[in-house]
Amino acid sequence: MRKEVDVVVVGAGPTGSSAARLLAERGWSVLLLEEHAEVGIPVQCAGLVTPRTFDHTPFPIGDLHQNDLTGGRIVAPDGCAIEFDGKVVHAQAMDRARFDQRIAEHAVKAGVELWTSAKAVDATRNALGVTVRVRIEAAKGLGPGEGGPETARGQGPQGVQPARGEHDVRCRLLVGADGIRGSVARWFDFPAVEEIVSCYEAELCGVHLPADKPGIIPMFAGASQAPGFFSWIIPVGTGSDGLPRARAGLAVAPGMNLQSAKAYYERMFTDPASAPYLKGATPSYLIIGGIPLGLRRHLVQDRVMLVGDAAGMAKPTSGGGIYYGLVASEFLAPVADTGLRTDRLDRGSLLPYERKVQRVLGRELRKGKALRALYKRFRDADFNRLARLLDAPEARAVIEKVGDIDYPSRLVLPLLWAQPRLAPFFLKVLLRPDVSR
Ligand SMILES: Cc1cc2nc3c(=O)[nH]c(=O)nc-3n(C[C@H](O)[C@H](O)[C@H](O)COP(=O)(O)OP(=O)(O)OC[C@H]3O[C@@H](n4cnc5c(N)ncnc54)[C@H](O)[C@@H]3O)c2cc1C
Repeated sequence: MRKEVDVVVVGAGPTGSSAARLLAERGWSVLLLEEHAEVGIPVQCAGLVTPRTFDHTPFPIGDLHQNDLTGGRIVAPDGCAIEFDGKVVHAQAMDRARFDQRIAEHAVKAGVELWTSAKAVDATRNALGVTVRVRIEAAKGLGPGEGGPETARGQGPQGVQPARGEHDVRCRLLVGADGIRGSVARWFDFPAVEEIVSCYEAELCGVHLPADKPGIIPMFAGASQAPGFFSWIIPVGTGSDGLPRARAGLAVAPGMNLQSAKAYYERMFTDPASAPYLKGATPSYLIIGGIPLGLRRHLVQDRVMLVGDAAGMAKPTSGGGIYYGLVASEFLAPVADTGLRTDRLDRGSLLPYERKVQRVLGRELRKGKALRALYKRFRDADFNRLARLLDAPEARAVIEKVGDIDYPSRLVLPLLWAQPRLAPFFLKVLLRPDVSR
């Protein structure tokens, strides 16, 4: 089969579905390709977002909402803990599988054609357009406990399933929203992302979280918990079985693979800091994946645009990428629309998108990278010292008031002001080599 459309979007994650919807609403024919049999599954996310994320979706959080998070408890390697609770909703836990499905549903309603079990395997470009080779594969079944919550199975938008085999789709513009795989970026020789962290996590039922602190996220730092990153236990409310649930897991430094991440995840059940929360808890499904960190130097080429994780838009401090991906899809759509209308889809004409991302999101991402550079130099003794320095009423008050997981750099100056001893401490750590390399 040979097909022609204005735009092909590779990847029906939140970013790809959002970009596809925004382009279809502007009147373009859009084909959205998803290699999995169902949108949103497998889940590769903790499902933690700020409330402002839903300013960038065509629906409110509504029934996707699982829990409101108001603060955190950071535990240093020696057990010293600081707890902060802003008493306002800083973040929300949501059903990530249904979130992806709902964004894709809105895309389909706007006229997007969605193909599932449809993997883009190659793309070639000439002066007139891009030809994407799509392999339609037999839907791979997932067993119980694999890939996501049972409640999301069979709930997503029904994609079209063309005949099995390979199909060529010709388009005027190709959007790479294919996440960590980044095949589109590879086919067109985009500069690489800087680092990839491996994550291993599970949704667990029967966790032990203080009943009077339902909105506090325990987090753990240090070499025995999650070298180069941190581990977390995100309370997500109570399941239909009446048992408290949480998504517990971690990311590890680049260079450590999923097997290492798995070993650290298993260690969470015995480590004295995290084990009390997890004793006897059972996983209902695993959440495994990687997060590319570091915005690519270029986001556009002739007739090709990258967005979301495919472009390296996840925050270097936390690995969260949903919010920035959605915002960037809103930057992409008007530029792509102008290019399609004027038939000017060369790199120069698409550059306003890249520049806007660099200007608006790139600033915070660059600051996040600097914070991560500092973090990667931390040794266990430094985490212990940091916990003590932050354990002062002034510092805690600043974290509670200014802390924002979408804009973590906003915390830096007020925190240095509130706790002046942080500046020489950070400087000393920064002057030390990055041990994670
Ligand atoms: C364990 C873990 C926990 C996380 N927790 C959070 C969190 O709490 N909050 C947060 O904001 N972020 C979190 N993230 C990051 C977040 O999941 C990503 O930033 C986000 O999913 C990026 O969205 P996206 O649409 O750009 O890419 P993705 O969601 O990765 O979507 C890409 C899609 O493209 C498809 N695809 C790939 N290649 C092809 C191909 N060749 N053909 C067809 N389809 C293809 C994939 O199947 C996938 O559906 C987490 C990540 C991990 C791994």
